[in-house]
Amino acid sequence: MTTEVTFIMVKPDGVQRNLTGEIIRRFEAKGYYLRGLKLKQVERSLAEEHYIDLKSKPFYPGLVDYILSAPVVAMVFSGKNVVTMGRKLIGATNPLASEPGTIRGDLCIDVGRNVIHGSDSVESAQREIGLWFPEGLVEYKPHMLPWIYERM
Ligand code: UDP
Ligand code: MG
Repeated sequence: MTTEVTFIMVKPDGVQRNLTGEIIRRFEAKGYYLRGLKLKQVERSLAEEHYIDLKSKPFYPGLVDYILSAPVVAMVFSGKNVVTMGRKLIGATNPLASEPGTIRGDLCIDVGRNVIHGSDSVESAQREIGLWFPEGLVEYKPHMLPWIYERM
């Protein structure tokens, strides 16, 4: 049984538009389960560190301001292949290119208001979870697992 984890964040626009429940619903309905969750007004240093790889991009200052503009919901989901599948559930970075059926394809229009973040690799997930959940994740046994996985 995999213990793969990914970092998912409902961005300020997603929280303000009351899409948090819809986003959680999509991950839970797929079969993934929560290992951490918090509503947080982010401090600048965390937003800058989270997006450090994009520091040289022209959109970086605006991106950091966007993340600081209102609270976000930070989450960790767990399950088989959750990093790659999470990115598929989310859809392409630019919602204009995101397929219908994906979160961005269904719920937003502008790349600078694309409602959700998801880790792009197992290594990014580890780094981001360390940043956002320094207190660690919640350990428990989800009783649905035999109904989601044929073998564990
Ligand atoms: N972004 C933007 N303009 C761009 C590209 C990205 O505002 O031209 C923002 C957008 O919110 C995106 C975030 O920067 O989600 C991080 O970019 P990345 O390439 O990592 O996309 P993601 O991993 O979120 O799909
Ligand atoms: Mg990214």
